[in-house]
This record gives sequence, C-alpha cells and structure tokens, in this order.
Amino acid sequence: MDPIKTELVVVGAGPGGYAAAFYAADLGKKVILVEQDKRLGGVCLNRGCIPSKALLHATELIAETHDSAARGITFAPPQLDVAKLRVWKEAILTKLGQGIAGLAQRRGVQVMHGRGYFEDSRTLRVETEAGQQFVQFEKAIIAVGSKPALPKAFDLGNPRIMTSTEALEIEDVPAELLVIGAGYIGMELGTVYARLGSRVTVVEALDSILTGADADLARPVVKFAEKAFKQLRVKTKVAKLATAGKQIKAVIDDGSGALKEELYDRVLVSVGRVPNAADLGLENTKVERDDKGFIKVNPRLETTDPAIIAIGDIAGGVLLAHKAHKEARVAVEAICGESSVWENIIVPAVVFTDPEVAWAGLTEAEAAAQGRKVEIVRFPWGASGRALTFDRIDGLTKLIIDPETERILGVGIVGHGAGELIAEGTLAIEMGATARDLAETVHPHPTLSETLMEAAEMFFGHATHAYVRKRCVE
Ligand code: FAD
Repeated sequence: MDPIKTELVVVGAGPGGYAAAFYAADLGKKVILVEQDKRLGGVCLNRGCIPSKALLHATELIAETHDSAARGITFAPPQLDVAKLRVWKEAILTKLGQGIAGLAQRRGVQVMHGRGYFEDSRTLRVETEAGQQFVQFEKAIIAVGSKPALPKAFDLGNPRIMTSTEALEIEDVPAELLVIGAGYIGMELGTVYARLGSRVTVVEALDSILTGADADLARPVVKFAEKAFKQLRVKTKVAKLATAGKQIKAVIDDGSGALKEELYDRVLVSVGRVPNAADLGLENTKVERDDKGFIKVNPRLETTDPAIIAIGDIAGGVLLAHKAHKEARVAVEAICGESSVWENIIVPAVVFTDPEVAWAGLTEAEAAAQGRKVEIVRFPWGASGRALTFDRIDGLTKLIIDPETERILGVGIVGHGAGELIAEGTLAIEMGATARDLAETVHPHPTLSETLMEAAEMFFGHATHAYVRKRCVE
C-alpha cells in the first residue's frame, strides 16, 4: 500500500495530542492523528482527570449528607449501587470521547486508530486493525503520554494490587485499602474509596503529603485525611507486597527498625508515572531521552530530531493535562513559523482532595529556597461569609508578593472550590498584576473570590473582614 503523505502527524490523542491536531488543522495544516485506544481523549479522559473527578463529585454527596444533619436536614444512609456508578461514569467518558471525535471530523483531521512506530525520521508505521499503514510526514508531534509506575516489588500480577487505572473501575469497595503514595492521585482516590466506605490507610515515604504544595496549604487536607482515613502515615515505606489468600500482605517499614506485616483487601500503588517511550521506534530517529526516559525538548518543544516535536507527559516537567494543552499551542505555532516559546508560562496545580488545594506561580517554599525576598499575606476563610454559608471555613487564600514592585508572584488556595478560584490568581500572575490591581477589582459578594481581593487588601493593612497591621517584609 502506498504511504499516506501528510504535513503533520500527531501520535497520541490525549489533551496534548488532540489539541495540537485541532489547532494545526485550524491553521490550515493537513493533519493525521494516530491513537491506539478506541476512544480519543488519552489518559485524562479515559483513566485520569475526568473519571477521577466524576467519582470525587459523586462521592462528595455522601459526605454532604452526613454533614447536613448538623443543619437540621437528615437523610437515610445512602444505598450504594457500584455498577450504576460505573455506568454513569462511563457515560460521561463516552459523551466526551464522541465530542472529540466529532470535532476532529468537522476540522478534517484524519483519525487513524492503531499503534504508531517510527520507521525513521519521516515515516510512521501504524498498526491498525486492517493491517499496517505508513505515514510520510513533514513534521511529527509525539504526544504519547505516560503510564502508572509499578515497581517490581509490587508487580505480582494480582488484580488486588491496582494502579490508578484499575482503581477508577471500582470493581468493589474493599473493606481495607492500602494506598501507597500520598501524591495527588493517591490522596484523591483514597478520598473516593474512604467516602464509599473503605477503611483507607495511606503510607508515604516522604515526611509530608502532596509534594509541591506549601505546608500551610496541605495542612487542612492532612486534618481531613486524619479523620476520613483509617491512617495517614508519613516517613513510612512499603518494602514488599505478597499474595495472602484473598488478601495482600504488605511488609511495612516505618523506620522503627522492625518490619511490620499488615493485611489488606486491595492495594493502590500511586508512586508516580513513567513515560510511554518504549516500542515507539525512537531509536530509528534522532530523538534523545533524559535519564528518566522523557523526551528531551527545547523551549519550542523541538526534540533533537529536526522533524519531531514532543509535548505533554512524554516531554516531562509537570505531568498535567493543561500543561500538555498549552504545549500543544506552543508547538503548533512553532511549526507554523511563529516565534512562540515555552517561557514564563504559569502552570497552576490543583489537587481535588477535600478541601481542594491549588497554587500557581511562586510558592513560599520556592521563594525560601531561592532566598528571594517576598511578602506573604494569608486571608483565613473563617472571615469569609461565603465560606460560612458552605460550612467550609477550613480554607486559606495566600498571596506571595514582591515587596518592591507589589506584583503578585504566587497564589495558593486551600478550600472548597480552590480549583475554580485559582484561575484568577493565574491570570493575575500572567498579566503582571499588582496587589493593588487585585484589591481594587470589585469582586461579587458573597463569593469565595472575595478572599483574593481581601488577601490583597491585607497587603496594604486594611482588609475589611480581617484586622491586620501593615506587616514587615518577610
Ligand atoms: P495522555 O493523556 O497520556 O495521552 C497519550 C495517548 O497516546 C493515549 O491515549 C495513548 O493511548 C496514546 N499512545 C501511546 N502510545 C501510542 C502509540 N505508540 N501509538 C498511538 N497512540 C499511542 N491532570 C490534570 O491536569 N488534572 C487532573 O485532575 C488530573 N487528574 C489525573 C488523575 C489520574 C488518576 C491520572 C492518572 C492522571 C491525572 N492527570 C490530571 C494527568 C493527566 O491525565 C495527564 O497529564 C495528561 O493526560 C497528559 O496528556 P498527554 O496528551 O501528554 O498524554
């Protein structure tokens, strides 16, 4: 069969790949999008962001019904139909997947379902159900993403040992669940299972949870976890897992000198992600990888092969869908000859725990590590009328400000809906806004967004709902 010729081939249809394919088509390129899964959308849609947030939302209701008793509204204990929950979640994924496929069609993006493999720097072989097809391209964007890391000591082939992919399927609700790793995936999925009724034990090798988040932002999540989970243990490692009948035996090293053996019904391993760079034929190109296996790129997302670009999880950095999406925009503009580069781009982070944690720009820990002089203001949500109406005063809005220019360098928020609120902080940092800009922008009342305005007012020593004297520079 003759090879298909195209200007651009995109390998992988996750939030990086399909965004790149669509944008390039919008800019007039002839594009082929290659995806091995039946449904487009990548990890994010199929086994990441969307299913996890659907389950977090569904199970939040369970927690809400408990809490509402204190407000004089009581409910009968919830009945759980896990099969129906799965069907509902799947329906969301189907709808979104169909939406992406429809958008590809309307833009004239040719979707090829099959596994892509580079024969050389200008040819991709695609293994489709109908057989092999060859695509000759002028440029290729690799957006093949990442998969859960499963260290050898945990990889027993026992279905009771799950990664996030299996955990999202909710096969059942285990009585005792061990979560290894207290990063955002472990904490989010631990929250889902705890709300469904599992006794959840989370162990983390480091001395804190949610690496990357400032300690004051993580603290309310620790408080929640200490109540909602059976145990949250930091500085604790799982040395080994073994099958023990219908359970899993975990050998735990808590640093006390003696190893402990504990039994669990299921184990979720959430210890990080590894790039999908194997069996891609990269050795037939000039593409180089770093020591962790991620593809090396320059600020224009170009690899060491002039015809090949890499974006999203496979290009390393923070492994988040919106980072992949933004890289898609930069990469396509670079292909089209524009001067776009990945420079000074603020990538917010959101952890959808209870409460949510979100931050953007410079963190307090980073400022300290850099020895950078900053002023920090913290507006406690106990002073927010809106937080009280939600019964959620366990929040905090924090601004990290340059004391000389008064520019907002970083924003951190912990609390109900922090994930939605952080966008304003991200925009403020991107636009070079000052504390005065935030303080003088009228925010609607009563909303949690006012906490950003009041935090900025605190910088000037006159927040309406919090009494502060003008502090010295920290
Ligand atoms: P991916 O989404 O990984 O997509 C890569 C695609 O490439 C896949 O569809 C794969 O099938 C395909 N592929 C791989 N190899 C080949 C090949 N050889 N040929 C053809 N196709 C191939 N991020 C957030 O921003 N917010 C969240 O709330 C969030 N929650 C998450 C929750 C969980 C449980 C997990 C696991 C991840 C979460 N993420 C979240 C991370 C997010 O899913 C990833 O950062 C994002 O999906 C990366 O996008 P990508 O386009 O780089 O690759």
